[in-house]
Amino acid sequence: MTPGAVAVEFRATTKRYGRVEAMRALDLHIPEGRFVVLLGPSGSGKSTLVRCLAGVERIDDGELLLGAELVADRRRHLPPERRNLGMVFQDYALWPHLTVSENVAYALRRHRPGRTEVGRRVGEMLERVGLVHHHGRYPHELSGGEQQRVALARALVASPGLLIFDEPLSNLDADLRERLRVEIATLSRDSGATVVYITHDQSEAFALADQIGVLDQGRLVQYAPPEEVYHRPATPFVARFTGLAAELPGRVVGTEADGHRVEVDVEGGRILVGSGEVLKAGDRVTVAVRPAAVRMTAVTGASVLAHAGMTNGSGRAPLTDHDGHPAGLNGTVADVAYRGRGYDHVVACCGQLLTGCFDAVRHERGSLVSVSLDPDGCVAYSSTDAN
Ligand code: ADP
Repeated sequence: MTPGAVAVEFRATTKRYGRVEAMRALDLHIPEGRFVVLLGPSGSGKSTLVRCLAGVERIDDGELLLGAELVADRRRHLPPERRNLGMVFQDYALWPHLTVSENVAYALRRHRPGRTEVGRRVGEMLERVGLVHHHGRYPHELSGGEQQRVALARALVASPGLLIFDEPLSNLDADLRERLRVEIATLSRDSGATVVYITHDQSEAFALADQIGVLDQGRLVQYAPPEEVYHRPATPFVARFTGLAAELPGRVVGTEADGHRVEVDVEGGRILVGSGEVLKAGDRVTVAVRPAAVRMTAVTGASVLAHAGMTNGSGRAPLTDHDGHPAGLNGTVADVAYRGRGYDHVVACCGQLLTGCFDAVRHERGSLVSVSLDPDGCVAYSSTDAN
């Protein structure tokens, strides 16, 4: 944390466009120096939130504080240039008639430093984003990635207490996206500023965030570290939006004493999973399965017969094998894709298709596999919630 980093606090903040409540009584506290990613699908209110934070939009209700200062409520509205923040947009938003250096220097105009000081700070910033040799070019003479680096330099040069990123990587190609993501993470964290970064891309959110806030229809539905969002998604919506192999319908047959895990009968077997809420035996549930929870082993030789026997027999795999380990569910590989470090499979299992099932070895299409599910990557919700 640098001395200038600023905490952000939304208190029951609401923003309406006509009858649409784009932000609904939002409570959100971001401690100074924290890197927070707000994640949500299109229309969930991400842009509205950052536009209100930046001061480009007024809020209708509630309060917004930066540090100890009330910057917005129903009456008050501090303009963007007085909020000590830097912003990077999806479409770069550079001044087309200014050179790279002039674009970056523009962010220092309010600080009125001397010419030598401006030259020094702009030069240093361009050095850090690798654009020193392009200082005299105009934006149209740069690639998309270079333009976004200029925007990053412009946002950072005045050492603001708050940095806002509005889908900054969306217009870039995949490999460049990855490189610029690392640069944004490094330079933002080095600056010590508080960061609010919005995206609809869950992998970007997991890679960058200290804390992830998930938005659904203008509401903050979960606000937690990435690991918690992954292992304990607060709602079926959060689980779905942050990447699932499948959702398995089932029925609770037993609960562990602490209530954190439940046993669920699904088509073709019985599985132990985490519980997303208080559940009891007999409840109908939907089990959200993370791709990383799926383990598969090839079924060969005599096991193929047993595998077929289990499928044709009771329709249920036994709970344990003869060593007492949980028995696998029966699966058939529907698709396999090479991913460099291994293979992603689609597996027909429990009457559903499990997608993104990784293994270091290749299982051919049509082959039989035994599937086990790690309870840490599976969460059951009451079916009524999941709809
Ligand atoms: P996101 O950034 O997550 O895609 P937005 O904040 O842009 O979501 O939009 C949230 C909701 O507010 C949507 O229903 C959108 O249609 C509505 N909205 C956003 N901006 C305006 C506007 N200027 N006028 C009317 N409705 C708007």
